[in-house]
Amino acid sequence: QRIGYAVVGLGHLSLDEILPALSSCKRSRVAALVSGNVDKMRKVAQQYGVKESSCYTYQTYDQLKDNPEVQIIYIVLPNSMHAEYTIRGAQAGKHILCEKPMANSSAECQAMIDACQKANRKLMIAYRIHYEPFNQYIRKKIQANEYGKPKFVDAFNCQSSANPRHWRHIKALAGGGALPDIGLYCLNTTRFLLGEEPIEVSAYVYSDPENPLFSEVEEVCSWQMKFPSGVMVNCATHYNVHDSRKYRVMTERGWYELDNAYAYTGQKLTTSRADGEIVRQETVSIVPKNQFAAEMDYFSQCVQDNRAPYSSGEEGLQDQRIMEAIYQSARQNRPVKLPLIEKKDAFR
Ligand code: NAD
Repeated sequence: QRIGYAVVGLGHLSLDEILPALSSCKRSRVAALVSGNVDKMRKVAQQYGVKESSCYTYQTYDQLKDNPEVQIIYIVLPNSMHAEYTIRGAQAGKHILCEKPMANSSAECQAMIDACQKANRKLMIAYRIHYEPFNQYIRKKIQANEYGKPKFVDAFNCQSSANPRHWRHIKALAGGGALPDIGLYCLNTTRFLLGEEPIEVSAYVYSDPENPLFSEVEEVCSWQMKFPSGVMVNCATHYNVHDSRKYRVMTERGWYELDNAYAYTGQKLTTSRADGEIVRQETVSIVPKNQFAAEMDYFSQCVQDNRAPYSSGEEGLQDQRIMEAIYQSARQNRPVKLPLIEKKDAFR
């Protein structure tokens, strides 16, 4: 039996990716909708076969507790609303899948973790890269030191954003600009690939003072991270350039380069290695997966098997803490140290 999801917020991500992906899931299905726009919700409900009695507004959201067809609530709202809807959802007795970034502060992240623990419900942050086969492949090769130890990573995630009235450009709603929205992927993916936690960050943030898009949130952020093994990571994110999403992991005797690394589709993996005197470069082909379907089916399986998800609330909190250190470093114009943390467990 497929696990029933309530999808909360019918914006771009829900309509273009999540609802279509649910239709192709093996373990997950849409069972309810939550939206402030009742007309839109009615049309979407008809399209996906959701009963009228399983359509809720933000005011009637808490009544989800009486809907036994819903086991998981998927929060797809502006970032500032993640904490409130996660906490209310857990109190309604449902497991929570929450979009990234987890919230706008580490205090909010902690409150979400505490509420889910208290209600004995699972909490997963929607880090789809953890369930994407190209990134999983590179992680495995790096952890096995295939071409020697990793030494240096260069990662960037950039796009353009044009509407100053959109919530992504309002600090109270978005929490920040390019960093929590798309730069987060460089941070989260690097931690995933290396399997260790940074101990120091050094950052630079800039916004064009003439551009109203960036009067509240940053346009660009670049930062470096130092890891306990000595790996150095160089990251950048930009909200005002043509789309560019790539990383290269450099190891002692080779490298892995993933183009479109954080995109929904179109990943292209190239590797290079020294083979004696010869340098061999090749493209690795891997069958792609729908990342949203993979992520939802993974969480449904965690619920069915009663086990903790890899992309836990603690995982989201750790990213939030590092982003707070990145902003602090940029503000104070100095490197900021982070506590030494043992990586909690291996990917399952
Ligand atoms: P969106 O603006 O397209 O949709 C947001 C939805 O929230 C809309 O339906 C809007 O009506 C609703 N909403 C409710 N209260 C609102 C308020 N006070 N202000 C503005 N909107 C309000 O945004 P989106 O791109 O769908 O992003 C939603 C979430 O998903 C964000 O947290 C974002 O970071 C995340 N996201 C994740 C991915 C991914 O690849 N995992 C991709 C895109 C977005």
